[in-house]
Amino acid sequence: MNTKKLYYEDCHRKQFEAQVVACEQTDKGYEVILNQTAFYPEGGGQACDLGTLGGVRVLDTQERGETVVHLCDGPLTEGAAVEGIIDWERRFDQMQQHTGEHIVSGIVHRLYGFDNVGFHVGSEVLTVDFDGIIPQEALPLIEAEANRVVWQNLTLRCWYPSEEELPTVGYRTKRALPWPVRIVEIPGVDKCACCGVQVGMTGEVGLVKIFSCVKFHQGVRIEMACGGRAVALLNAAYDQNRQVSQTFSAKIFETADAARTVSKRLAEAEYRANALQKQIFDQIAAGYAGKGNVLLHRPDCPPADLRELADRIANVCGGIAFVYSGSNICLASRTDDLKELGKELKTRFDARGGGKPGYFQGTLTATPEELEAFFPVS
Ligand SMILES: [Zn+2]
Repeated sequence: MNTKKLYYEDCHRKQFEAQVVACEQTDKGYEVILNQTAFYPEGGGQACDLGTLGGVRVLDTQERGETVVHLCDGPLTEGAAVEGIIDWERRFDQMQQHTGEHIVSGIVHRLYGFDNVGFHVGSEVLTVDFDGIIPQEALPLIEAEANRVVWQNLTLRCWYPSEEELPTVGYRTKRALPWPVRIVEIPGVDKCACCGVQVGMTGEVGLVKIFSCVKFHQGVRIEMACGGRAVALLNAAYDQNRQVSQTFSAKIFETADAARTVSKRLAEAEYRANALQKQIFDQIAAGYAGKGNVLLHRPDCPPADLRELADRIANVCGGIAFVYSGSNICLASRTDDLKELGKELKTRFDARGGGKPGYFQGTLTATPEELEAFFPVS
């Protein structure tokens, strides 16, 4: 059955009356077919419309041939007249993204001759794939040109050329299409074969923001957003920057310099701290020179530094250096193979870990007293 498609007649139609032609229960809900509908079915990169039909919720809208099928969460009576209400916020967002994509694709096609070979509206940004490399420095120009088109508030023309006229229209398309073909034209900007629902005038797109352009297959993938989405994403980015500005006590447009300065100072401080720690470890190690086996508790020592300290003590003590911090341990020796000792630690204190013959690093469960009794030093 051929559903009359009200969304093509008036893209701003939010409410409509229709007659229920069929209602069938499935395992997902109730599949409802109407004589006419303003619910756009998923297709052409655009998400389907949601909303309500005769008081029941529309969970999904799909096209089967020329029939639009509404998946509802409740039954509707066949033959009854029902009112349909579109979730307009969702639809208008989809329209803004879709027309914005046409504007950008039209500009890229005119400037470079590249074709849009993929289009997806995600939950945050939309991605548009082109079959050629767009230079990074061109992105601000493309964005500026797209916004000029938006502000010119051009009227879109959606029409079906006659079979004779179609070959002469010169439109963008992803693949060869049989007649009839629906053409969406933004005068002077773009002509494209499209089954989606667009805004009526480019001004409704509000804003076009291109966020990134990365290499993708043989071309590039652009991440962008239009209208309300673009404003929401720019607001989120602005709020992040405001927080960074407060953290660094920097002016809102000087945060990058402030972050670079802090990062440089941090690297210098870490370098100095490492040098000082090496000196301290050397001094500690010097106190154990020739002492034979050493057991040392360093409660504040991070696990990563235990090895460095154990290593330095092992270099001079002439026995086994056993350094621990909480449950973390590191044993090092230049004279002894620690394999057997490691095994004993596993048996006695459930130690986990391992190492080379002169090393054992890992964790165990023992009190300092238990370790002192286990590992007597001279
Ligand atoms: Zn389209």
